Amino acid sequence: TDAQGINLIVKATDFAARKHHAQRRKNMEQTPYINHPIGVAQILSSEGGITDPIVLAAAYLHDTVEDTDTAMEDIEKEFGTEVRNVVAEVTDDKTLTKAERKAMQVKKAPGKSKEAKLVKLADKLYNLRDLERATPVGWDDERKREYFLWSREVVAGCSGTNGALEAALDDIIKRNL
Ligand code: NDP
Ligand code: ZN
Repeated sequence: TDAQGINLIVKATDFAARKHHAQRRKNMEQTPYINHPIGVAQILSSEGGITDPIVLAAAYLHDTVEDTDTAMEDIEKEFGTEVRNVVAEVTDDKTLTKAERKAMQVKKAPGKSKEAKLVKLADKLYNLRDLERATPVGWDDERKREYFLWSREVVAGCSGTNGALEAALDDIIKRNL
């Protein structure tokens, strides 16, 4: 029902806010990290037209396992198998090096579910907008450019999923490369 879906989304918002409470973005203002998952859910809802509570809850939760003490089993227990599966699909394997993780995102993107591709597209769009607005602390223009180039590859692997998000990504990538 709608009520169940709303409850799932609100619970995911609260869970993510508590898990990311001590974390900051890599910008000069040290923006609270939770602004990022909130923004990813907002992009999916407002720009992508997405109303599926599973996708929106997964958007709020998408960095909790990768970046906090959250276990995949916690997501399963609190939010069920469907949300867990989407979060798992967008979570990098931390046993790999950073370079290997980036290569895996490119390689695995085409085989992911539609739900996971939606979260990936919105995640990349949010991060590229962040980068376009301001250079993260310690980054130079070359590193920023490499991030746009890599994102273009991941986004290409998620194509055919959401016209509005893909058009916005094409625009921002074109402007910055
Ligand atoms: P990234 O370089 O991938 O850092 C970007 C990630 O940081 C984003 O995907 C985003 O992830 C998060 N993030 C936090 N704040 C911001 C922000 N303000 N704007 C955009 N993104 C933000 O990861 P690492 O820092 O772990 O670096 C690893 C990689 O960087 C290596 O593979 C290496 O190749 C490369 N590198 C390049 C250098 C260069 O000079 N060219 C130097 C050093 C490393 P999320 O969605 O999870 O929040
Ligand atoms: Zn993210």
